[in-house]
Amino acid sequence: MRIALPSKGRLADDARELLELAGLEPEMRGERALQAALGDDFTALFVRAADIPEFVADGAADLGITGRDLVEEVGRPVDVLLDLGFGRCRLAVAAREDDRIQSIDDVPPGTRVATTFPRLTERFFARRGLPVTLVPISGAVEVAPHLGVADIVVDLVSTGSTLRMNGLREIATILHSTALLVGRTTLGRDDDDARRARELVAALESVIRARGKRYLMANVPRAALPAVKEILPGIDGPTVIDILNGGEHVAAHAVVDARDVYRTIARLKEIGATGILVTRIERLMP
Ligand code: AMP
Repeated sequence: MRIALPSKGRLADDARELLELAGLEPEMRGERALQAALGDDFTALFVRAADIPEFVADGAADLGITGRDLVEEVGRPVDVLLDLGFGRCRLAVAAREDDRIQSIDDVPPGTRVATTFPRLTERFFARRGLPVTLVPISGAVEVAPHLGVADIVVDLVSTGSTLRMNGLREIATILHSTALLVGRTTLGRDDDDARRARELVAALESVIRARGKRYLMANVPRAALPAVKEILPGIDGPTVIDILNGGEHVAAHAVVDARDVYRTIARLKEIGATGILVTRIERLMP
């Protein structure tokens, strides 16, 4: 199966890292190769992220990884198979900080809007019943108001520092976006391609799920096991293993939320735990 991947840009490295963690490392023949084998079942096609929705919609690729923003902007039918969680950003309307436009309600009819997302921008303002003049440009949207070619902009925002650096203020959000795994709508349900796509989804999901989790091991007094069960709920409760040291202590293992690890360790220490070990998990399939 052919899977279209971003060749460069913000999503390229994260997409590749996710696939590698799932056990699919592209066998590149040269740095600038357009194609690479990806495990036994897939061929990666390296293309512009913005072209991926089109390639998947018309079947040139069976699957693709690209941003929701681009899928929505291109507007061609594809199936969203999995939200991959990275590439988080929002498509926002922004005006000059020193402008009289302070909120979206201040935007007067006929305002010139510079954007690389003309379709989504047009739809947003049409839904508000506000006629605007689109100024489609291909990059560096944030300078348009300073050059006098537009009054406001519609642009992707991640940290907000590009807008701030250019003296722009966000006044509305059009869309929240993350990277998606998409598939052609003709994939079907029970042929070999559909099965392979499902296996890929399961593999990627297991990596994404594992990212927010840690595997925690500790030696705890056997007498404290009721408290341990409360501190380490795990997926099905902690695993308890005998230690061959006379039986007073046991080893308790559990999967815990990464963001709770700090507190969990403190609580385990309070009940006399020793030998606490925390490791990352590569993949997690409950
Ligand atoms: P920031 O300064 O972090 O808000 O990033 C804004 C700049 O990065 C803008 O030029 C955006 O076009 C671009 N950008 C931010 N997030 C993404 C993304 N997920 N995909 C593509 N471009 C992005």
